[in-house]
Amino acid sequence: MSAPQALQVTAIPAFADNYLWLIHDQQHAAVVDPGDAAPIEAALRSLGLKLNAILLTHHHADHAGGVAELLAQWAVPVYGPAGENINGVSRPLREGDRVDLTALGLQLSVLDVPGHTSGHIAYVAAEQHWLFCGDTLFAGGCGRLFEGTPAQMTKSLAKLAALPDDTLVYCAHEYTLSNLRFAVAAEPDNADLTSRLAQAQQMRERGESTVPSTIGLEKRTNPFLRYREPSVLQTMRANGRLNSDDPVAAFAALREWKNGFR
Ligand SMILES: [Zn+2]
Repeated sequence: MSAPQALQVTAIPAFADNYLWLIHDQQHAAVVDPGDAAPIEAALRSLGLKLNAILLTHHHADHAGGVAELLAQWAVPVYGPAGENINGVSRPLREGDRVDLTALGLQLSVLDVPGHTSGHIAYVAAEQHWLFCGDTLFAGGCGRLFEGTPAQMTKSLAKLAALPDDTLVYCAHEYTLSNLRFAVAAEPDNADLTSRLAQAQQMRERGESTVPSTIGLEKRTNPFLRYREPSVLQTMRANGRLNSDDPVAAFAALREWKNGFR
């Protein structure tokens, strides 16, 4: 028997700006949010991997659209949110559940993070300090509230912000530059943020991915984790976007502002 290889996470770009995440040990693989099967099949072939599991964070087609095609090739369990009706899910999950991928030696715990969709879940690999958070937390931003409320989203983001600072944030889109441009508008005097934007611009010019980020960096620079900071509140009050002391109202106003920001 060969010695077990260290687990690694590989980004599989898909569509305009999605990242599908392949977790593997050179032999076995699990895929997070396979919106498209073709690039996953190509990666499995070129890396010589056997698919062992599919993990879904929420029902949107750019996250779950490749499931049926993958299942036609691979008889594997499909983990997904118990609170959403997704074709192919065989292992419905809710907060507190654990996923034990024995072939990979990987254990994940599940968090309920409603807001972007009503049943959205996130996967935490506590040993590796990895977070797979779909469209809940982005590098420099957060998902739009399509189904959930601002109150739900603030609670969901607080759960993610409570993870260790060195947790790698594997979110599902390369939205970082536009998120950080908005972040600078919301908090112009945050030096960590302006240097992050400059760094992200250089990375994108070199064609590099800005994901994963870390929870520590998000806490220092992401306005959707910083909506209670006086600096952010002051900007929103100064431009007439906030006339309340309620933190959820501040979060909602910030999200509204971002929705219309170009
Ligand atoms: Zn989505």
